[in-house]
Amino acid sequence: MDLSYSAEESSFRGEVREWLSANLPADIRDKVVNYHGLSKDEYLRWHRILAAKGWSVPHWPVEWGGTGWDITQRYIFDEEFGLAGAPGLPPFGPVMCASVLLRFGTAEQKERFLPRIRTGDDFWVQGYSEPGAGSDLAALKCRADRKGDFYHVTGQKIWTTLGHYGDWIFCLVRTDSNVERRQEGISFLLIDMNTPGITVRPLILMDGGHEVNEIFFDDVVVPVQNLIFEEHKGWTVAKYLLGHERMGTGNVSASRREIGTLRALATREIKNGRPLLEDPRFRDRLSRVEIELEALEITSMRFLDQMRRTGQPPGADVSLLKIRGTEIQQGITELMMQAVGPRAQPFKAVDHGSIDHFMSRLAPRYCNVRKASIYAGSNEIQRNIIAKMSLGL
Ligand SMILES: Cc1cc2nc3c(=O)[nH]c(=O)nc-3n(C[C@H](O)[C@H](O)[C@H](O)COP(=O)(O)OP(=O)(O)OC[C@H]3O[C@@H](n4cnc5c(N)ncnc54)[C@H](O)[C@@H]3O)c2cc1C
Repeated sequence: MDLSYSAEESSFRGEVREWLSANLPADIRDKVVNYHGLSKDEYLRWHRILAAKGWSVPHWPVEWGGTGWDITQRYIFDEEFGLAGAPGLPPFGPVMCASVLLRFGTAEQKERFLPRIRTGDDFWVQGYSEPGAGSDLAALKCRADRKGDFYHVTGQKIWTTLGHYGDWIFCLVRTDSNVERRQEGISFLLIDMNTPGITVRPLILMDGGHEVNEIFFDDVVVPVQNLIFEEHKGWTVAKYLLGHERMGTGNVSASRREIGTLRALATREIKNGRPLLEDPRFRDRLSRVEIELEALEITSMRFLDQMRRTGQPPGADVSLLKIRGTEIQQGITELMMQAVGPRAQPFKAVDHGSIDHFMSRLAPRYCNVRKASIYAGSNEIQRNIIAKMSLGL
């Protein structure tokens, strides 16, 4: 197994780092490192800067605007984003919908949607989950009845991240209820969010932020040209898409940046007459998280090496990146709260850009990151996947 970087790869890292330092807008970076959500305009501004450089969809085939980078370069690129405090583009269009279009889309669908995803002209969101159909996704009930050349969609989606920014939503819908297996009779539809009959309602998370939504469909008319792959065969598409979510879920470099910040905080915080960093119990907890992160990084590199050698996507055990990565993120927020105590609360006036401002973001951040072990397939479900697919239990 080769876990080292070549001279060319190190020089590529330098190029990405230099470009980010010159082109990442300071106001956007400031929001990321202080744990504020971005507005739609801020996402789009950053998307267009990346698109102008040719870096908005590095993983796509070159003929559609990809960079032609190999898997290691793509990994390095993501790492440098995390270290720099650059926001990743929301994955729903560039990663999820695009992967599906590239694999299952007709030539016409590719021509119609891919260029606009690359440039950021369409903001995509994901309509999978419903009340009662999250982990058990095949229980979904949102219906699409075909009448001639149109589907009529009625039902509800929930937890739709950035649904209030969405121009388009890709949805799993039920096109046939008389099936033996619930995974049958599901179809994958692309729906224009401006179609009459769609209502988006905010769900406010524990930190007070508006990030997720409920979306209601009331007889929404969708042309059959927006069906991806075959009618009733959407489960095949859904499974393919989920496999694409898991490799990038470790967030190693962002966690590394945050641990640097945590160390700085613990050095300046005085507890019982000495810096918190010298407290053996705090050091013990911090070291454990650091060691976990080290191990996660080596595990990510191991998957990378395997993909480099075989050219194949990783197996089901890549789920452990999601489990460990999110546990580490949550562990860091716990230690940050411990480091600053009551000053982590957001209910006070502080100067923007000051250390007090950063500290006042920590309680909201702690609350927000509880979500990480639930979305993109909860950690319990990831453990089930490992047990079933890798350990054969
Ligand atoms: C912040 C956030 C953003 C999200 N964004 C989106 C989005 O953009 N689009 C979208 O479609 N969905 C989104 N989701 C939904 C997400 O995919 C679901 O919340 C997730 O799949 C869990 O489903 P559920 O909420 O229905 O919980 P349930 O499935 O009801 O699970 C409840 C609990 O039971 C556990 N559990 C369930 N089944 C099993 C089992 N078989 N074995 C062991 N434990 C089990 C779960 O792990 C969980 O702890 C988002 C969720 C969150 C929190």
